[in-house]
Amino acid sequence: ANDPLVAAVHRILTHADGKRRLNVRTNADTGVDAARARRFGAQGIGLCRTEHMFLGDRRELVERLILARNETERNEALSALQPLQRADFLQIFREMNGLPVTIRLIDPPLHEFLPSLEELAVKVAVQHEHGQRVEHDEQLLAAVRRMHEQNPMLGLRGVRLGLVIPGLFAMQVRAIAEAAAALASEGGNPRPEIMVPLVGAVQELETVRAEAERIIAEVVGSSGVEILIGTMIEVPRAALTAGQIAEAAEFFSFGTNDLTQMAWGFSRDDVEGAFFWRYLELGIFGISPFESIDADGVGRLVRIAAEEGRAARPGLKLGVCGEHGGDPDSVHFFHEVGLDYVSCSPFRVPIARLEAGRAAVTSEGSDHR
Ligand code: PEP
Ligand code: MG
Repeated sequence: ANDPLVAAVHRILTHADGKRRLNVRTNADTGVDAARARRFGAQGIGLCRTEHMFLGDRRELVERLILARNETERNEALSALQPLQRADFLQIFREMNGLPVTIRLIDPPLHEFLPSLEELAVKVAVQHEHGQRVEHDEQLLAAVRRMHEQNPMLGLRGVRLGLVIPGLFAMQVRAIAEAAAALASEGGNPRPEIMVPLVGAVQELETVRAEAERIIAEVVGSSGVEILIGTMIEVPRAALTAGQIAEAAEFFSFGTNDLTQMAWGFSRDDVEGAFFWRYLELGIFGISPFESIDADGVGRLVRIAAEEGRAARPGLKLGVCGEHGGDPDSVHFFHEVGLDYVSCSPFRVPIARLEAGRAAVTSEGSDHR
C-alpha cells in the first residue's frame, strides 16, 4: 500500500477518473472476477457471459436438456439448472452491489457446448465392438449429429438458441429476477440488465422481451427492483436497423468481436493463422481489426447504430463489450462516438480508465497525447 510507484499510478488514475466521460465496466462471469475488477475500479459489469456457467459439472444437465424427448424432460433439466444459475447471479450481484450488471443470456457457439462428435462416435464404436449397447450414448450421438453445424459461429447461437429451445431463456431470466429479489430483500441494491445476444431483427428481441417481462413482473412485482432489457449489437443487420431495435431495447452493447467477424467476413477462430500476416504485410491494416477498432468499417456500423438508436430512443444507454473495450485507440474512438461506457477484462480496467481520461482531455481541444 505504501509503494510509491503504486501510489503514483493511483494518483494518475484518480486524475483520469476526474476527467473522463466514459464509464468503465468489466467483463466478468464469476464473483471472483467481479471482486477483482471492482478493486481495479470497474463501475459495474458490462458483460457476464453465462454460457461459461454451463460447462464442467453441469455438462450432464446440458446433455439432459439436449436429449429431452418431451416438455417434461426438458423442464426437469431446466429446473435442475435454475437454482444453480440463481446462485451464480446472486454471488455476482453481491460483489457488484449498487453497480449495474449486464447479464447476457446464453450464447454458446454450439460446438463448444455440445459433447465432441468425434469422441462420442469413438466411444459408441468401442461399445459396439465389445458387444455393449449404451442407449444414452447412442441417443446423445444421434442428437449431436443432428445439431452438428459446418459454421457454428454463424449458426444456432445466441437468441436463435433461445427461440429454438423453449424455456431456456425463461429459466435464466427467472434466475436473474429471483437473485435480484433475494439481494434486495437483504437490503442490497442489485441493478441487473438482461442482454440478448446475436440479435439481427427487432422481432427476435420483441419475442424474448415479451416473455422476460412477464417473468420479471411475476418475480419482482412491486419490490422496487428494476431490471433493464437490452441487446448486443453485433450482427451488421442490427446496426443497420438500430432505429427499429431501439424501440425494444433499453440499452445497446456493441459486440465488436462478432461485428468485426461479420463486417469483414473473417472467421474469429481461424483468421490469424491463415492470412493476417499477408494483410499486415500489404498494409491493408496495421493491426488486427479484432484488436483495435476498424474505424472506417466496423466503426461506421457502431456510429450508425449509436445515432439511429438514440434518435429512436433518446437516452438509450450505449456501451461496448467486445475486446476493443480495453484497447487504447478504440477507447478514444468510443469516447468520440459518445458511448456511455466501455467494458473490458478486469486487468485492462486501469488502462481503459486512463485512456478514457486522456480521450476526454484530448477532445477538449488541447492535445495531451
Ligand atoms: C462480441 O461478439 O464482441 C462479444 C462481446 O461477444 P462474444 O465475444 O462472447 O461473442
Ligand atoms: Mg458475440
